[in-house]
Formats: sequence, C-alpha cells, structure tokens
Amino acid sequence: MAKSEGRLPTLMTSRLIAPCGMNCALCSGYLRAKKQCPGCRAADDGKPSYCVHCQISTCERLAKGELAFCGSDCDAFPCKRLKQLDKRYRAKYGMSMLDNLETIREIGVDKFVAKEKTRWTCPECGSLLCVHKTGCLTCGYVWNSGSGDLWEGNHAC
Ligand code: SF4
Ligand code: SF4
Ligand SMILES: [Zn+2]
Repeated sequence: MAKSEGRLPTLMTSRLIAPCGMNCALCSGYLRAKKQCPGCRAADDGKPSYCVHCQISTCERLAKGELAFCGSDCDAFPCKRLKQLDKRYRAKYGMSMLDNLETIREIGVDKFVAKEKTRWTCPECGSLLCVHKTGCLTCGYVWNSGSGDLWEGNHAC
C-alpha cells in the first residue's frame, strides 16, 4: 500500500455521522482540499448553504436537540424526506442512509463507525474514499465503477 496523502480514516468519528445516517467523512464537501465542510453536526460556518437549509437537519424534531439519529428515536421514522434522500443515494451512490441508521440502531454508532472505517478505506493508498466519486480522490483507485460522479451536487441533502 502506498503512503496516503489524503484524509485518513482515523479522522472519522461518531460526530461525523449526521442524524439522517449520512457519513459526512465520505462527502466530497468534507474531503475536498479547500473550504472543507466541517460536517452536519458542526456549526454552520463553512457549510454549504444546501446543507445549512437541509430539510432533514432543520426538521423540528431534530432541532429540539433530543434526537441523536432519525432511526433511533423518531416516531415518524422513516419520514418521506428521509426516504427520498435514501432512494437517491441508493440509485446514484450505492449507499443507503436507512441501512446506516438500521445498523446504528442495532450495534450503536461507535461500532458502526468502526465498520465504516474498514468499508471506506482505499485498499491502494489508505485514504478515505469519497461516496460521491467513483475513484479514490488521492490515488484514483476505482472502488465503484457503476455509479457516482453522476450528480452535479456534492452533498447529502
Ligand atoms: S456538505 Fe453536507 S453532507 Fe457533506 S460534509 Fe457538509 S454537512 Fe455533511
Ligand atoms: S425521520 Fe423524524 S427526525 Fe428524521 S427528518 Fe424525518 S421527521 Fe425529522
Ligand atoms: Zn487511494
């Protein structure tokens, strides 16, 4: 394995897992070289406006600060907006927020993060892979030849 020059899996923490199940550590907004987004759970400074105004992160049930994850605690789960987001991500990126939330509910967020580190580490260079891109941002290794790079946006919401 070549030495990594990209962002490393050790950066992935539970705080980077958004309430909707998105792993912000895999987002092109988080992984890009400049103007990196700090992730959904951070303060809005540095976030793109589409994530500041995301219908899920601004959901009144989440805004009260009582729910850690949509899938763990909300009695409306999975609501229409979450299902729409999940459908788009399944189709375009081969990743499912609902599956993530189900795993978090079953094993807890810390074990989920451990699994994600294994799943999304580039086997060629050891950097974090980006869910929005077919190839590793650092070395070009193609992890997903069937999707990604299709959506002009680079965000979850
Ligand atoms: S752009 Fe949105 S999905 Fe991407 S890291 Fe920022 S908050 Fe998370
Ligand atoms: S699942 Fe519940 S908490 Fe999450 S966005 Fe929908 S209504 Fe809000
Ligand atoms: Zn790589």
